Amino acid sequence: MAYEIQPKASHFIDGAYVEDTAGTPIRVICPVSEEEIARVYAATPAIIEQALASAKRAQVAWAAMTGTERGRVLRRAADIIRDRNYDLSVLETNDTGKPLQETLVADATSAADALEYFGGLAGALTGEHVQLGEDFVYTRREALGVCVGIGAWNYPTQIAAWKGAPALACGNAMVFKPSETTPLCALKVAEILHEAGAPAGIYNVVQGMGEVGHALITDPRVAKVSLTGSVPTGRKVYATAAEGIRHVTMELGGKSPLVIFDDADLEDAVGGAILGNFYSSGQVCSNGTRVFVQKGIKDAFLKRLADRLQDVKMGDPLDESVNFGPLVNAKQLDIVQGFIAKGIEEGARLVCGGEREKRAGYFLQPTVFADVSDDMTIARDEIFGPVLSVLDFEDEVEVLARANNTDFGLAAGVFTNDLGRAHRMVAGFEAGTCYINTYNLAPVEAPFGGSKLSGVGRENSKNAVDHYSEMKSVYVSMTAVEAPF
Ligand code: NDP
Repeated sequence: MAYEIQPKASHFIDGAYVEDTAGTPIRVICPVSEEEIARVYAATPAIIEQALASAKRAQVAWAAMTGTERGRVLRRAADIIRDRNYDLSVLETNDTGKPLQETLVADATSAADALEYFGGLAGALTGEHVQLGEDFVYTRREALGVCVGIGAWNYPTQIAAWKGAPALACGNAMVFKPSETTPLCALKVAEILHEAGAPAGIYNVVQGMGEVGHALITDPRVAKVSLTGSVPTGRKVYATAAEGIRHVTMELGGKSPLVIFDDADLEDAVGGAILGNFYSSGQVCSNGTRVFVQKGIKDAFLKRLADRLQDVKMGDPLDESVNFGPLVNAKQLDIVQGFIAKGIEEGARLVCGGEREKRAGYFLQPTVFADVSDDMTIARDEIFGPVLSVLDFEDEVEVLARANNTDFGLAAGVFTNDLGRAHRMVAGFEAGTCYINTYNLAPVEAPFGGSKLSGVGRENSKNAVDHYSEMKSVYVSMTAVEAPF
């Protein structure tokens, strides 16, 4: 029997698909055909209750398993995802509009990497022993309990796994709410985890808008919330979590600098700027959208960038030769077009792009602005679309100060062949995720996350374990108790 890729219902709770058509309908629109490809229903209070109750019930037994046993489930899920990568990538492409060329290598595979990595780590999670004379302290690394994950729409499969894998490895249960814009792929992550042996209730998915996220994180059974989203949403979710003193991870927006010195390899620098602005049609949180180019190579940089943009191939994202897809929906297209108009109005020089393509789908041309100054709206606000701004600079001290002159602090990159300067620059960047002579790689082995308004906590790497567990400290006395009276 052929593998059925379309999720069977709106929610996945307690090991099974669950439907409740009493919830608000959410139409899933294909960004290419602009037609409805699926319909899910927002979680009703009854669905939210089922999901939280089943997670709470399942978590204790899951945490009592050995880490190796839990890890085996995650690694099995990784293998299943890899086996079905093609089908899962097609689903992701239909949901987000991202080219299959990208989703085949960056979405389900990245989820599999996270499940494999944290599956491997699960058996190695330990506490410590601290000798204090004859007495000693030992620490137990304990799960937090029920964790809520809330996702953005740009990397739906990846986000569902980047949150789920470390949470489950540490012995937590998760209730995940995808973005209403891209609700399909997280359901497949849940289904596959269950197939791989995750007990019912350990990873539940419920659909809905912000209100559903809010209902989840105000429930007293919830110990932690991990959000991937914008800064305004982050503020609300963080404040709500604070009322219950809940643990948080906040993966929020950015306006990251990419600094290109005149001694850089020009071809690599242009490649980095393309990766950091046009991959996923620019809908990537860590994008280096403020491209600072040293004056001496500005013209050569812009010329080579314009040349390489000739190789953009737009079209049906399911065609594997297509390398540039539409924006996720009409609303995002509107937002990005608004920023382009603002850039022109404020005096930036439009080098190329800027227009919506005359075809079905939310296609917007890759857009490059030059002569952008630090105070322009396009240099200050997160655009979340294919808009690259080139800003000129003279020297290292000046550019570092300007690079850091933002409230965001997600990522930063530098291209130079001067080793000392490269390390000075990254030491000075006020950003959580930095790059030297490359941009936007996010392997599971490396911590990922932001400083300043871009977030709190880190995803991926051993670091994520600290955000999904807490240490219990146990003092053991080997001697008589000395009391003052
Ligand atoms: P939003 O902030 O609009 O939404 C993020 C998620 O939060 C959605 O699932 C949304 O639900 C939900 N939500 C909204 N309001 C609330 C609330 N009050 N309580 C609980 N949940 C709520 O972000 P987008 O989906 O538009 O994603 C784009 C943003 O995500 C960009 O700013 C981007 O930079 C950021 N991002 C950050 C990443 C990182 O790792 N740092 C990675 C990827 C994206 P719904 O939308 O369904 O109503």
